Amino acid sequence: MSGQGGTHASGSDDDTVLAVYAQRSAASRGRRFAEPPPRHRTEYQRDRDRIVHSTAFRRLVYKTQVFVNHEGDLYRTRLTHSLEVAQIARSVARALGLNEPLAEAICLAHDLGHTPFGHAGQDALNECMRDFGGFEHNLQSLRVVDELEERYAEFPGLNLTFEVREGILKHCSAANARKLGELGERFLQRLQPGLEAQLANLADEVAYNNHDVDDGIRAGLITIEDLCGCRMFGRQFELVRGLYPQLGGRRLVHEVVRRMIDYTVNDLVDASTAALASAAPKNVDEVRSCSSPLLMFSDGVREDHLELKRYLREHLYRHFRVLRMTTKAQRVVRELFDAMFGEVNLMPAEHQDAARRLEAADGAMGRARAVADYIAGMTDRFAILEHRRLFNPAERT
Ligand code: MG
Repeated sequence: MSGQGGTHASGSDDDTVLAVYAQRSAASRGRRFAEPPPRHRTEYQRDRDRIVHSTAFRRLVYKTQVFVNHEGDLYRTRLTHSLEVAQIARSVARALGLNEPLAEAICLAHDLGHTPFGHAGQDALNECMRDFGGFEHNLQSLRVVDELEERYAEFPGLNLTFEVREGILKHCSAANARKLGELGERFLQRLQPGLEAQLANLADEVAYNNHDVDDGIRAGLITIEDLCGCRMFGRQFELVRGLYPQLGGRRLVHEVVRRMIDYTVNDLVDASTAALASAAPKNVDEVRSCSSPLLMFSDGVREDHLELKRYLREHLYRHFRVLRMTTKAQRVVRELFDAMFGEVNLMPAEHQDAARRLEAADGAMGRARAVADYIAGMTDRFAILEHRRLFNPAERT
């Protein structure tokens, strides 16, 4: 298929840019339902396009990253977060000779299963689902692309390739892994995913650490002075202040944040290049059978990154203004779940049907899953509206 001696045949990878350890489209383990190959795109480009056209992807624009959607128009949402993750991963993929469209597809899909209201929503839904198999946004992202998207005549979901699905499933309990067949195997055998999946994981961390700093300062919840106590931020801040002593305001913040991203990404490329050179995997199978991931930060940057993460957890994610909102959000999710689980006819017809179908197969567990699917698919504002419709007698239904 590929390997056209430097030319790039449409529908196949550009072999001139791929390293030996990159995943090739032609070597994909394929789709759950066989389909003819795309004519002008690679398999992973097709996956990426399917994700971008999906309903779940469009909804990400109205889902919280840290700040609830209506708190302001300038903050990241799940959609802009996913785009930033993909952008970082694409740069690194090019630098390391990895399959860029594959990395991009994984990144764009990685948060499709997120509930409304960010982690607060996920925690609340997980709590509601405690007796029914739990709720985990990673597994839900997979469920969205495998089952819940309704777009094709011949199969449920988006019928993505194994490699994109593998990348979406970042982590997974042994119990869940056993139910997932081929996709769960690596968690049971402690194998690694392909490098593009490893990359998506790290790009996610780089993106949110940095944009949460930016959004947190913008919201006035954390200050530049306090952040200077974190090595990652402090180092770049000193540099920028040395270069531009007069600079202040948004431009100062942006100069620091963009340098933090650049610094971290360069470190990721350098440390990974060294790890790849020393492990010298000759193909993807050798990458998979390594005992630990081959993409990584250097020890120093990983430490700095963790320090910043801890800082954000304490000062931003647990800031009383954020907590007040997340408490409200959790109440909304819990009350929606209890009401709809108690009476599935409170949901729109298609979700009632799903509840009856899943209940017939799986009892209360199935009914709970259908309610969780409905709630997880909601945007922040839809969840608030639906809650009002259910609990506020003055609200039109
Ligand atoms: Mg993410």
